[in-house]
Amino acid sequence: MLAQKAENTADKPKVTLHDQAKKSGGKFIMRYNILIPASSQFRTKAETHEDRHAYQWTTGMNVDLLQIADLMTHLSPLTDATQAGLQTKINNEFIAWYNAQIAIANNRRNAAEKDAYSVSDAIAPQYLYQNCGRFN
Ligand SMILES: [Zn+2]
Repeated sequence: MLAQKAENTADKPKVTLHDQAKKSGGKFIMRYNILIPASSQFRTKAETHEDRHAYQWTTGMNVDLLQIADLMTHLSPLTDATQAGLQTKINNEFIAWYNAQIAIANNRRNAAEKDAYSVSDAIAPQYLYQNCGRFN
């Protein structure tokens, strides 16, 4: 049986990863939901903080992570004699890649929080204890 290339599999409609990447310009989409009423005095502060985290993933310090082009450098070389074998390799490689990307993000977590609090702490209401100083 002929070896099948991973990039051919990624083009099939079943692979939502590929569709998601196309919609988001080659990047996973980060979403958040703030459960604070719009009328609350804390809404803008929390929203600004979470917006800064979104910025970190779209433009800022984490923009290099979870890039589809990088993922494809891991998946494209994969080959196997069977469709099932190739799918297993793709699944395993994706999980390994994703976990490695998240590990990098976790290592940057304190810096990301410090950065986000440096923006949101300045917004009223000021807390007696601001959070930015916790993340050094
Ligand atoms: Zn945060």
